[in-house]
Amino acid sequence: MISNIVTVPDVRLKFKCEPIKKIDNDIKCLAFDMHRFLKDNEINGGLAANQVGHSIRLFIIHLDSIECTLINPEIVKMKGVCNSIEQCLSIPGELYEAKRPKVIKIRYTNLNGEIRSIKGHDILAKILHHEIEHLDGLLINSGKYVGRCEDALTRKKRIDNEKKEKVKDEAAKSGLILPDGVLGSVIKGK
Ligand SMILES: [Zn+2]
Repeated sequence: MISNIVTVPDVRLKFKCEPIKKIDNDIKCLAFDMHRFLKDNEINGGLAANQVGHSIRLFIIHLDSIECTLINPEIVKMKGVCNSIEQCLSIPGELYEAKRPKVIKIRYTNLNGEIRSIKGHDILAKILHHEIEHLDGLLINSGKYVGRCEDALTRKKRIDNEKKEKVKDEAAKSGLILPDGVLGSVIKGK
């Protein structure tokens, strides 16, 4: 029975999870409990084993009619990039902007030990990528994520800075020198 989700800053979220060598009863029970947790809490999305305290390569997906347990998943193919505003059960109450593939194909082993693959577009691609990154210890606010993901606040700061630089450049070109305080109001008034 799962009652707690591991949340930041718990270091267990940052470790790379270990491959599963044998799909025994413990693994099956864990997957069952994880599915029940998403169902009971009416969560449409995914959950990785390290979010419930097990550092093993397993995650589950619940998306509308899709219910799937993915063991030792591997990315086979990714195509396209899109921005995605996301939340994570391990970072409660916060939204981040991440870059995700538009299409992803993942090969995995199911609970019966059979090799399967799943291809996801759009929202399913985002969820699959989010979860597989959990297994590599990557979170949407993780330092390792920088360059591929930008949280909303960082993005705002970057855009504000770019605007400021642009105004400064234009001012420099036109021979105007603006103190920073004035610069702020020039941007606000735009
Ligand atoms: Zn997450």
